[in-house]
Amino acid sequence: MITTSSRRAMLAGLGGLGATSLAGCVTQGGTASGLIAPSRPAFVVPPLAPLRMSVDRITKITVCLRPFRAAGPRLDVEQVAGKRVVHNYGHGGSGWSLSWGSSTIAAGKALEGGTKEVAVIGCGALGLTSALLLQRAGAKVTIYAKERTPQTRSFRATGTWSPDSRVADADKAAPGFPALWEEMARASYAAYQTLLGLPGEPVSWSDRYTLLGGGAGGPRGPRPAGSVHFAEYGERLHDIVPGFQDLPAGSHPFPVERVRHGTSMQFNVSDLAHMLTNDFLAEGGRIVAMTFDTPADLARLSEPVVVNCTGYGARALWKDETITPVRGQIAWLAAQPEVHYGVYYKHVSVLPRPDGIVVQYVGDSDMWGYGIDVERPDRAEAENAVTTIASLYERA
Ligand SMILES: Cc1cc2nc3c(=O)[nH]c(=O)nc-3n(C[C@H](O)[C@H](O)[C@H](O)COP(=O)(O)OP(=O)(O)OC[C@H]3O[C@@H](n4cnc5c(N)ncnc54)[C@H](O)[C@@H]3O)c2cc1C
Repeated sequence: MITTSSRRAMLAGLGGLGATSLAGCVTQGGTASGLIAPSRPAFVVPPLAPLRMSVDRITKITVCLRPFRAAGPRLDVEQVAGKRVVHNYGHGGSGWSLSWGSSTIAAGKALEGGTKEVAVIGCGALGLTSALLLQRAGAKVTIYAKERTPQTRSFRATGTWSPDSRVADADKAAPGFPALWEEMARASYAAYQTLLGLPGEPVSWSDRYTLLGGGAGGPRGPRPAGSVHFAEYGERLHDIVPGFQDLPAGSHPFPVERVRHGTSMQFNVSDLAHMLTNDFLAEGGRIVAMTFDTPADLARLSEPVVVNCTGYGARALWKDETITPVRGQIAWLAAQPEVHYGVYYKHVSVLPRPDGIVVQYVGDSDMWGYGIDVERPDRAEAENAVTTIASLYERA
């Protein structure tokens, strides 16, 4: 519970209360050589509008299954039903983040041999980016898919830059996978930089506050015995992705021992998915509703090359049991345009998006939801998550 004046400042939207003292902390450190090292400018917490967390503000609960593959996403090529099939699925909790990079690799493979007509199966993050990249490289592209925006699983994602979230098992991925991941992540990151500042804000930056210590709980706990060793490659991008730093005590309005602050990219999935779909159609692409029951059904297509972006659907279609579902659920609250920051507290993450406030219990390790393929919403989980965050804003 917030019991201090800083808490009241937060409730009053005066999160900058501590800013004066924080600003006063700017120092220049001397180095062993006697040179003055450049100091990081102090971050001044801006006024933080309170999140209006109450269960009666839940507008919907959505559930999605992350398509986790221990080896990492599948990107190989095979010949099936007379077609050259390039796979592009199995991105775990990183599909939006890695989409442009992964699809650049898949599109390159699809165009080897000079084909000019390509079928893309799937209309989620990977299908849309593959289709756009192929089309912009000069191919005639048709997307065939059972679902399109807003019915895809991609549409139900949180929408944060999370390129190594459940993307592989560090002990099972091939030795070259970390470098491949970095190539995909850097290409995606660069592509998303070009989508910032557009009308509708398909991609934007937001401040994030990670609340730790005491009752806030620690960061995600240690890896439980026998659990998957989820790969963590974030450090490979340290030169382009802003880091998180501890805020000095008293410089923030949160009622916890320790707060880390960072700035992160976010995908406003509703705008982003619609923009990608509209761009693809406006640039001459076609989307055809079609369901494939077995790989042999690909024979129905006229295109000689197929990019397979079926996500979790590849488990059934391709009988790929190396895909493990990792369930994730979001409680949506009515949007608060005045809120521009995300919070992580007691394993609940909150992200403000133009289409709603995303509230998600993420568990105390990445094993949360692992192996669970239940897409039915769990109201109690949603309400607990909302109530947890509400406690931050309660008056003493
Ligand atoms: C709760 C949650 C939060 C997430 N948050 C993030 C995040 O913040 N950032 C991030 O980067 N990632 C996030 N992810 C992961 C991301 O959502 C997935 O990695 C991504 O959606 C996978 O995209 P996809 O295009 O491969 O699959 P999908 O979106 O599932 O698309 C598959 C497409 O293939 C079609 N299809 C499937 N089978 C068939 C078939 N047999 N016949 C015809 N069509 C078929 C479908 O209809 C659909 O069009 C999150 C996932 C979950 C569950």
